[in-house]
Amino acid sequence: MKLIIDKLTKRYGNGVMALNDVSLTIDKGMFGLLGPNGAGKSSLMRTLATLQDADSGTVALGDIDVLNEKEKVRKVLGYLPQEFGVYPRTSAFDLLDYLAVIKGFSNRSERKDMVLGLLSKVNLYEHRKKSVSSFSGGMRQRFGIAQSLLGNPKLVIVDEPTAGLDPGERNRFYNILSEIGENVIVILSTHIVQDVRELCTHMAIMDKGRVLFSGSTDDALGQIKGKVWEKRISKEDLQQYQGGYKVISNKLVGGMPLIHVFSDDQMNGDFVPAEENLEDVFFAKLNDLI
Ligand code: ADP
Repeated sequence: MKLIIDKLTKRYGNGVMALNDVSLTIDKGMFGLLGPNGAGKSSLMRTLATLQDADSGTVALGDIDVLNEKEKVRKVLGYLPQEFGVYPRTSAFDLLDYLAVIKGFSNRSERKDMVLGLLSKVNLYEHRKKSVSSFSGGMRQRFGIAQSLLGNPKLVIVDEPTAGLDPGERNRFYNILSEIGENVIVILSTHIVQDVRELCTHMAIMDKGRVLFSGSTDDALGQIKGKVWEKRISKEDLQQYQGGYKVISNKLVGGMPLIHVFSDDQMNGDFVPAEENLEDVFFAKLNDLI
């Protein structure tokens, strides 16, 4: 099953063009949707999750017309929103069981098996009797994944899932997500390059409502291969370099700026080839350098 998004457009009442002619084809596996805040990622995710309408364009999930057959989509959709809202003082088991009832699972013993299976999948089995309101951020995210997987969805959408997680929690979350991606389309929307680099084989970069790149992560890296150069400079010189070169990024390493510069031609003057990374692709695309 494929998800085919064709020429999707959405303009809000305030005039913001959140989706501007967005076309993407997404296969099963983990797909990273990378973009800075305001790029239009959530607008796209909410549209795919049937929570908001587009102005024009089409979306097909297999033979389902996503924009017009919302009930059919909801049967095969798992959604982990950015904000999960209120966390009731209910145990993890009871809450997930309740959500399963809402999803239409009426057989109590089958439901119990499914709920316990999901809680162990996301490593919350031993916490099943604890109140979800007492969970840490990472545990809540894992609970969110469990609820998104109720009923074996074909399409799972996760919106900014690792924001606010510490490194250990983020790793646990990565491991769970990467297991899910084997037979399902998982779309991971994020502004964190590392999320995409670690998890996704395919990706798109969005900014200001437009798709700037779509393809495999290897293809993305291929676009800058051999064209990124780095140099340690002093803080005082930073402005001068930014004026004279196509600076992709500058970050402090040991208190000194390390700049990455884009150039088709061999560079000298103490510039050395930088190992290409997805962050450089991201910034080069956003700054219209490639
Ligand atoms: P992202 O998820 O990439 O941060 P969003 O889809 O949330 O991007 O937002 C895209 C643009 O649309 C932003 O400029 C945002 O301010 C605007 N926007 C989002 N939701 C609304 C809304 N309900 N009404 C008006 N503008 C909105």
